[in-house]
Amino acid sequence: MAVAPKLHHFIAGERVEPSSGQYFPSTNPATGELIYHAARGNTADVSAAVTAAQEAFEDPRWRNLSQTRRGRLLRRLGDLIGEHSEELAQLECRDNGKVLREMRSQVVSLPEYYYYFGGLADKITGDVIPASDPVILNYTAREPLGVVGAITPWNSPLSLTSSKLAPALSVGNTVVIKPSEHTSAAVVRLAELAIDAGFPPGAVNVVTGLGHEAGQHLVDDPRLAKISFTGSTVTGSHIARTTASRFIGSTLELGGKSPHIVFDDANLSNAATGIAAGVFAGAGQICIAGSRVFAHRAIHDELLERVATRARSIRIGDPFNADTDIGPLAFEAQRDKVARYVDEGRSDGVQVLAGGRATDAGLGGYFYEPTVLVDVDNDMRLMREEIFGPVVAVVPFDDEDEVVRLANDTEYGLAAGVWTNRLSRAHRIAARLDCGTVWVNTYRNIAPNSPRQGFKSSGVGVEHSPETIREYTRLKSIWINNDEGPLADPFVSRAG
Ligand code: NAD
Repeated sequence: MAVAPKLHHFIAGERVEPSSGQYFPSTNPATGELIYHAARGNTADVSAAVTAAQEAFEDPRWRNLSQTRRGRLLRRLGDLIGEHSEELAQLECRDNGKVLREMRSQVVSLPEYYYYFGGLADKITGDVIPASDPVILNYTAREPLGVVGAITPWNSPLSLTSSKLAPALSVGNTVVIKPSEHTSAAVVRLAELAIDAGFPPGAVNVVTGLGHEAGQHLVDDPRLAKISFTGSTVTGSHIARTTASRFIGSTLELGGKSPHIVFDDANLSNAATGIAAGVFAGAGQICIAGSRVFAHRAIHDELLERVATRARSIRIGDPFNADTDIGPLAFEAQRDKVARYVDEGRSDGVQVLAGGRATDAGLGGYFYEPTVLVDVDNDMRLMREEIFGPVVAVVPFDDEDEVVRLANDTEYGLAAGVWTNRLSRAHRIAARLDCGTVWVNTYRNIAPNSPRQGFKSSGVGVEHSPETIREYTRLKSIWINNDEGPLADPFVSRAG
């Protein structure tokens, strides 16, 4: 039997073995087979990565690089990602089980992050502030923070890492990444490509490992200037407490329980497509999954039938197969968690109109059928907690006030879909929804030049767009007296 390969950390421009000699297994969720052993990062490994990042941050070759040249490095990295897109998509597909088609389309758009923030690099300027005294020049400068820790989940490893890496590097920070223990391989390869693109060793480092070990050690390293985290609300809250106690910033992109609102004037075919794509693609492992559907009573039954028909027609299977629509959940415990929510709903009287069963799809992996639920109550756990699986519940409503109240009745505030052909209604509802992104007659559009932010328990801080530059810089105010004459002396009694 072939021996599984080893995946090492990437520190100071090199693949580095774990100092403890310990590894943890990474399995293919479609088959349950071992694919590699990843380095199990400990305090010493994290410390070495932060030291490398700190030395790179202070190295004049990086620190004094012009903003334009920094931008060029980012664009070169974008080019290299494009050239290696098939390799990267395959690494992601094998690690997290999302279908190759979806991973390819994500990776193909990945260079855009580096082109966008590479282009922005030399457009980041300070301001000249109008001073009340004409001899005073007051200006501001945006400075990099230092070493940024980036901690990411398993569901879209490269794109969620790039949302942090591209802006952090564009303003001159250096970065230590701790990828999810379920999906380490593609992120290590991305760091290697950054060095090939010309970033100095230490500018991008990766420590693989477990959350409560490598992740926690990274958060605890006092040399970090910032943590940028994407993951669950529970971990995000823990990280926020730690960073607050050290007075360093954190950007937190957390969980969601996003609603779709479908009005009786909507194009129901498009709404059903958007709902199915938004919650079943990627086996529902999408932070913006629209898992609560509110359907106007006049079209409720028809929409339900359309969504259930879509769910039943989805082909589960090998994510590398071109005919497969959805692959497995990323690991066994996640599949079991999804099953628990549906089983609990069943025992509380919820009706399962489609799906509702775990399966190994004949491959030995951790699959769950696309599932449509009705007769749910807004107080049930499956309506309040993030399932992170291919499960959607459909609920009727009668009027705008009622549906806005239901949609906003959640601790989360990540995104929402509104389906209506009435323009005034679209604007009215978008304004009343308590979440960071609203899509009208579309769903899941994301771009590096458009801000993304979770409200309420879905996060703190903005990713993407020029707004995210504030998250990775500090603002300095500089006052210059241009008058070389005597300084006005406030101590009148001693003057002369
Ligand atoms: P998670 O919080 O369990 O883990 C995320 C990362 O944090 C992993 O790398 C993990 O190893 C690490 N981690 C865990 N405990 C840690 C600790 N004590 N200290 C430091 N790091 C620690 O999340 P997950 O289960 O991997 O990801 C799924 C979650 O991510 C879902 O809630 C989903 O909604 C969310 N998510 C949010 C967005 C967004 O943009 N808002 C995008 C994708 C995923």
